[in-house]
Amino acid sequence: MKKERHQPQKQPVRQRIKNFNEVSYGLTEEDAIAEALRCLQCKKPTCVRGCPVEIDIPGFIKKIAERDFKSAIRILKDKNVLPGICGRVCPQETQCEGLCILGKKFQPVAIGLLERFAADMEKEKEVPEISQKKNSSVAVIGSGPAGLTCASELARNGYPVTIFESLHLPGGVLTYGIPEFRLPKRIVGEEIELVKKLGVEILTDMIIGRTLTIEDIKHMGYKAVFIGVGAGLPSFMGIPGENLLGVYSANEFLTRVNLMKAYKFPDSDTPIQIGRNVAVVGGGNVALDAARCALRLGGRVIVLYRRTEKEMPARKEEYENAREEGIQFHFLTQPIRFTGDENGYLKGIEIQKMELGEPDESGRRRPVPVPGSETIMEFETAIVAIGQKPNPLLTSSMPDLKLGPSGIIVVDPETCQTNIEGIFAGGDITTGAATVISAMGAGKKAASSIMKYLENKKHKIRINNFK
Ligand code: FAD
Ligand code: SF4
Repeated sequence: MKKERHQPQKQPVRQRIKNFNEVSYGLTEEDAIAEALRCLQCKKPTCVRGCPVEIDIPGFIKKIAERDFKSAIRILKDKNVLPGICGRVCPQETQCEGLCILGKKFQPVAIGLLERFAADMEKEKEVPEISQKKNSSVAVIGSGPAGLTCASELARNGYPVTIFESLHLPGGVLTYGIPEFRLPKRIVGEEIELVKKLGVEILTDMIIGRTLTIEDIKHMGYKAVFIGVGAGLPSFMGIPGENLLGVYSANEFLTRVNLMKAYKFPDSDTPIQIGRNVAVVGGGNVALDAARCALRLGGRVIVLYRRTEKEMPARKEEYENAREEGIQFHFLTQPIRFTGDENGYLKGIEIQKMELGEPDESGRRRPVPVPGSETIMEFETAIVAIGQKPNPLLTSSMPDLKLGPSGIIVVDPETCQTNIEGIFAGGDITTGAATVISAMGAGKKAASSIMKYLENKKHKIRINNFK
């Protein structure tokens, strides 16, 4: 057995920093088979415990090893209708691969790369089997990974489902946030097409809480509602100068680049203006995506992060890619003021050095300012990527809905049921910004609770500690 896992080829750095094409080419057929043969086919596989949608991981990997790619993708799609997406963006290192037995002594099996390989090998997407039609229809609010998963689970079980999406395209962060070079929109489009082929209706440009309310939806005859509206409201630092021209939230910047195709300049109707020197504030996936987009749009990019490399929440693979591409990282630095010119444009950022103190509530060591360490650096563009929280647009139209800190919807963790009968919720709106696969896991759990709820409306799903 080869101890080291097979790695995919990547687009050469000098080429990729000038385009938005996918960076990783994925495994070749020969490497995928060899990688699949590294799997020990454990009798009690631990990796499956690390997958929130419970894919039969050894099962699909065995089929790849046997060159039976059709069966591999069937096994995957039995639990996950978005395998091409998950294979690319799941944080496998902390999910399934983090629990792979082989990883104790050697490198874990490249489960994500194999999932992507099987998904990419299926050219004509086969529609999974659909159960007999049921009468009760379900409304799903939001078409991100949580909503898409909940909707497809219900549709596969015969329930009529309509997704109401506020944007003009479905997919949530998969469409407007994660850039093309990590997750091609062709892949997102193909997998959403599959969700539609399961019978899911997707209505776009429908802002629930504005265009329609949840009460309207109930009156339209929907018997249950799943809310998967994500956490799309950007957080800011609350420091002077945040309103200067040239200071963006990562959310706005990435939406303009990805959804509005600003990267297709000069063919884009909505190009984005970017200065020569770009600062990105933050250390997560969002910060790195913004930094790598800004680099491709011609900026010289510095990431300002208030902790150290060790505490950075971004995926390691993407951090390495960003470094290879020439993005600079200034650790233990915190902006304290944006400075502008006489026309209101950003000119610079006053930065303070930090040092690490005691751990905070997140378990990571708290950054503490170093007095007298302030300096000013010149930047014409700044992108703030320090986190997102739930947008209150929908929840503020539901006065009886129980909310938790920062406006997340409180649900029973076992069932995704809210405090209102027939209304379920999952994904980032219930956890705050998290991951694609945790949102999908919640969507799946909610679908199962909704089916139980609809099958026996008298049986109210509650767990003991739910207040
Ligand atoms: P979302 O994906 O946010 O989808 C919510 C949907 O609801 C959106 O389409 C929104 O338009 C819609 N909506 C909102 N309000 C309304 C309303 N009132 N009416 C109707 N529709 C509404 N996770 C990973 O696992 N790996 C990564 O590499 C990764 N990279 C990321 C990069 C970026 C830039 C961002 C922003 C996030 C990233 N994440 C990543 C996190 C991940 O994308 C989210 O955790 C996940 O998308 C949450 O899914 P969701 O379905 O809960 O919400
Ligand atoms: Fe691993 Fe994500 Fe695939 Fe599950 S969906 S097997 S967690 S890569």
